[in-house]
Amino acid sequence: MPTFVRTDKCDGCKGQDKTACMYICPHDLMMLDKDGSATGHAMKAWNQEPEQCWECYSCVKICPQNAIEVRHYADIVPLGGSVQPLRGSDSIMWTIKFRNGTLKRFKFPIRTTAEGSIDPYRGKNMPKLADIQNQGYFTPSGGYRAGRGGELLRAK
Ligand code: SF4
Ligand code: SF4
Repeated sequence: MPTFVRTDKCDGCKGQDKTACMYICPHDLMMLDKDGSATGHAMKAWNQEPEQCWECYSCVKICPQNAIEVRHYADIVPLGGSVQPLRGSDSIMWTIKFRNGTLKRFKFPIRTTAEGSIDPYRGKNMPKLADIQNQGYFTPSGGYRAGRGGELLRAK
């Protein structure tokens, strides 16, 4: 199911050059129609090629206005149904709208730790540039923590 922007909710990410949905889309499908010449809706985003959509829903989840809906193609699911997620910091709620107007909501937890609290390199060793050519650089040592940029530049 590809994604569609609801123009009544989208605020164009308040006129920033790159909107959240443009930033996150791995297929560069989301566009901001600054002057309304492409869609007739100035300062609203749009999915320029829904049939090319990977259906990853990154744009749906990142949109701060919850302005992006998931809809199936009209020839498979008649127009009128929609799927709308609402992402919170610890859960996501999916609102399913059926064609007859029936609404159902499902809420799922999306994490068990506080946002921003994970340090993926905690307890790892500091990398040494001299070891970078060695086989098994990462695994036998139990992994390394993130290196500093300067340490990762190859000396001539
Ligand atoms: S992220 Fe949402 S609010 Fe921002 S431009 Fe895209 S659809 Fe509009
Ligand atoms: S669902 Fe994924 S591929 Fe499709 S428009 Fe959104 S971010 Fe891009």
